[in-house]
Amino acid sequence: MSQIDSAASRAPEFPAPIRRVVIAGGGTAGWMVAAALSRTLGKTLDITLVESDEIGTVGVGEATIPTLVTFHRLLDINEQEFMAATQATFKLGISFESWRQLGQDYIHSFGTTGKDHWTAGFQHFWLKGRQRNLAGDYGDYCLELRAALENRFAHLPRGGMNYAFHMDAGLYAKFLRRFSEGYGARRVEGKIVEVLADVEHERIRALRLDSGALIEGDLFIDCTGFRGLLIAQTLGAEWEDWSQWLHCDSAIALQTASTGDPVPYTRSMAREAGWQWRIPLQHRVGNGIVYGSRFLDEARARQILLDNVQGELLTEPRLIRFRPGQRRHTWRGNCVAIGLASGFLEPIESTSIHLIQRGVIRLLQMFPAAGINAADVFEYNQQTRAEIEHIRDFIILHYHVTERTDTAFWRTCREMSVPDSLRHRIDLFRDSGRVFRVPNELFAENSWIQVMLGQGIMPRQHHPSADLMDDAELGGFLGEIRQSVEQTVRRLPSHQAYLSTYCPVARPAA
Ligand SMILES: Cc1cc2nc3c(=O)[nH]c(=O)nc-3n(C[C@H](O)[C@H](O)[C@H](O)COP(=O)(O)OP(=O)(O)OC[C@H]3O[C@@H](n4cnc5c(N)ncnc54)[C@H](O)[C@@H]3O)c2cc1C
Repeated sequence: MSQIDSAASRAPEFPAPIRRVVIAGGGTAGWMVAAALSRTLGKTLDITLVESDEIGTVGVGEATIPTLVTFHRLLDINEQEFMAATQATFKLGISFESWRQLGQDYIHSFGTTGKDHWTAGFQHFWLKGRQRNLAGDYGDYCLELRAALENRFAHLPRGGMNYAFHMDAGLYAKFLRRFSEGYGARRVEGKIVEVLADVEHERIRALRLDSGALIEGDLFIDCTGFRGLLIAQTLGAEWEDWSQWLHCDSAIALQTASTGDPVPYTRSMAREAGWQWRIPLQHRVGNGIVYGSRFLDEARARQILLDNVQGELLTEPRLIRFRPGQRRHTWRGNCVAIGLASGFLEPIESTSIHLIQRGVIRLLQMFPAAGINAADVFEYNQQTRAEIEHIRDFIILHYHVTERTDTAFWRTCREMSVPDSLRHRIDLFRDSGRVFRVPNELFAENSWIQVMLGQGIMPRQHHPSADLMDDAELGGFLGEIRQSVEQTVRRLPSHQAYLSTYCPVARPAA
């Protein structure tokens, strides 16, 4: 892991107590921060959020991962109300289509697959079973994956079904706004035209709005999106560019009308120089293409997207440019950047909203009520850094381990050198089928296994524990798991039927 340089340990200290928190920006990041701070420390803090309707938000970011369920539980957000308010659907995983090879698909689902033994993960038993012709597809042993393919969903007792959501990003910000205002957060509409700061001592004092109003604060949270108005444009936090590994730097987003019932998974369809997403909501579908502008021009990207969407177009295609990477310091002086202001890899594994939630939880855990000290700042930056590097490696894996050689984009991804940390994981799995989760890492072993198998890495050997079972035992063990998954899936209602009773939304009259 890269270390945060020693400048962080020399960060200025602010002995003054923190009472006034100013959140700059009202996108998903700004309102998630406002919701978490107001719900937990709202009684002791004065929280103001500034946003500009004129500037607007990035308007994408509608697929999530299961950690959002936990975030909502921590905040006591009612799931049914949230889902109805944001036209949400359930998400059980991501279907990766043509990533390994044209026409070959796999699902990265949220569940666990099979049953592990304490000496060896389930994949070893599956590998042995495959060798002996006793095993089905790896996904046959995962409830969430099978339920996704069958288009079914229900909550199961004791967290028996791992899920996340697809949601309307604009409606989510509005929902969280109502929630935060209910806990005392104050919203100010206006464009920030000046940031008043003592840059040498990394201290922001106030934001000046176009109305002339001054919003003063003790702690500032920069949620201004890619602009990074406070953390970068004012305090000069550097951007570490990761485009040597992540070749996509542009996206075109577009909304369409639904043409059928929503499926409970995101679709990620690899294209000639990137990939296309399809995110089904209750009232519409979110679509977009993510691509590398070195390999594909905007006109062609737009055409590929338009040729591959279904249903009536509800919006004009909208171009979004980005630079994959991360700020070297996301907490600087009395400013913490959360959301796109802090970094952005790319959306393939829906990790950005998760990182917002991690950022605000970490801030709450280290909240500098009595004043900011350098050790906290250092620790915060160090943890943020470690967390995102694991995610970065997982994302690079999808591009690098491909059999596609049909375009310059895919050949570049295949042939590029990858971070040593990722190289090691790939070698370990290929040689021995082993995967180890690093402490505090987001993606668990089963995520790595599903993607590595899905992208075409077949381990050369399995653990000897699997050899302790004879064919009859192994066949019985695998068959039982598969049968139990199938029986449970057959009892589940359709995804649409479940949505209709769990979180019905008012449909416009025909
Ligand atoms: C193509 C694409 C697809 C994505 N898909 C996913 C996904 O599926 N899942 C996921 O988890 N994440 C996804 N993301 C990331 C996700 O969109 C963001 O993490 C999320 O929307 C948070 O954005 P934000 O709030 O940081 O920034 P923004 O939405 O850009 O909000 C910035 C806010 O700052 C305000 N602002 C800026 N300047 C000023 C100013 N001068 N004065 C006043 N206000 C100002 C704006 O008005 C706005 O309110 C995607 C990102 C991209 C680019």
